Amino acid sequence: MIYLDNAATTPLDGEVLAEMLPYLKENYGNSSSQHALGRKSQHALLCARDSVAKILGCKSEEVYFTSGGTECGNWAVKGVCAAHGKGHLIVSAIEHPALIESAKDMQKQGFELTFVQPDNDGVIQPEEVEKAIRPDTVFCAVMHANNETGVIQPVEKIGTLCKERGIFYFCDCVQTAGVLPLPTKFCDGLSVSAHKFYGPCGSGAMYIREGAKIQRLISGGRQERAQRGGTVNVAAAVGLAKAFENSVKGAEENGKKISALRDSFVKRVLDEIPDTRINGGGEKLPSHANISFGGCDGENLLFLLDLEGVAVSTGSACSAGAVTPSHVLTAMGFSEKQAKSAVRFTFGQYNTVQEVDTALKILKQCVNKIRCLKK
Ligand code: PLP
Repeated sequence: MIYLDNAATTPLDGEVLAEMLPYLKENYGNSSSQHALGRKSQHALLCARDSVAKILGCKSEEVYFTSGGTECGNWAVKGVCAAHGKGHLIVSAIEHPALIESAKDMQKQGFELTFVQPDNDGVIQPEEVEKAIRPDTVFCAVMHANNETGVIQPVEKIGTLCKERGIFYFCDCVQTAGVLPLPTKFCDGLSVSAHKFYGPCGSGAMYIREGAKIQRLISGGRQERAQRGGTVNVAAAVGLAKAFENSVKGAEENGKKISALRDSFVKRVLDEIPDTRINGGGEKLPSHANISFGGCDGENLLFLLDLEGVAVSTGSACSAGAVTPSHVLTAMGFSEKQAKSAVRFTFGQYNTVQEVDTALKILKQCVNKIRCLKK
C-alpha cells in the first residue's frame, strides 16, 4: 500500500506508542484518584499538559485535553454561544464540518451566521472578514490551513482584527500542528489533533486563552479544571504530547523532505498527464497536492487507485447515496464538475521517492483508463 492520505490520518509512531503503553497497562490509575496509582497518572497528565503548553507558548492552565479536533470545534462555537446567549457568528466557508455544522446548530437556536467566502486561490482575505463583522459579532473561526488544499490562511491579521473588536477568534490548527509555528498569541482558542502528527486517534488539545468568554461543552466531574467532564484518557494525552514534541522537533527536516516529494510528484503530474491543474494558490503546507484531472471523476479515480494499492482521498462527501462535491472547492468558485474531478494527495514522513515514482505510474494508467472509457 502506498499511503498518500496523510492529511486524513497518520500512522502511530512507535516511540509514541511506547510512551503510551504504561498508561494502558500497569499505570492504569484514574488521574482523579488520590492514591499512588492515581497520582502517577495525574503526574503524567501534568507533564503532558506542560509540554503542550510549552510548544503552544501559553500557560499550562490554558490547555485542555479533548477527544480531538471535532470536539474542540464544537466546544469553541457552542461554548462561546452559551456564554453570550445571543449574537452573530462568522465562520469561513472552507472550515472543517466540525465548525460549519456546529455553527449551523447554533443558527437553529437563534444565533445569526455569516459564512465568509475564500478567493479563487482558497484564501480567506482579512478584508472579507472585516466586512462581515457586526457590532453584535461574538465569534469568528478561520482555520490555520485548509485540510483539502493545504492553503495557509492569514490568521495573524484576522486574529488581530478580532482582538481589536473583542470577538472570540478560534483557529483550527489541526492541519498545521507539528508543521508550522502556531498563532497562539493571535487567538482566543485553537485546536490540535494527535492523529494528524503520528499520535493516537481520538486525542486532541484545545488552547483557551485565560479569561476568554466561553462555557464548557461537556458537563460532568471536575476534570480539566471543571471545564471538560469525563475521566481523562491519560495514555492519549501522553501520546499527543510526545507526538507533538517529536513533530515540532522534526518539522524543518520533515517539511523539506515532504515538500520535495510533493513538488516532484506535482511537477511530473503536470508534465506527464495532460489536462491537469493544481487547486489552491499562494502559500501551502508542504504535504498537500489537490489536483483536478479533466474528464475524470475523482471518486472513480480514487477507487481505481485503491484497487492498485494507492490510498488518496477526495473532498467529496457521500450522503444518502449521492456524492456531493467538496464544499471547499465549490466555495473557491469551482463548478460541480470541476470540483468532482479533484483528488487530494497528501505526503508524510514515511513516504519515499520510490513510492512517489510508483504512484505516478499507477496514476497515469488509472487516468488513461477513465479517459478511454469516456471516449
Ligand atoms: N479540523 C481539520 C482541519 C481537520 O482536518 C480535521 C480532521 O480531518 C478535524 C478538524 C477533525 O479532527 P478529528 O479527526 O480529531 O476530530
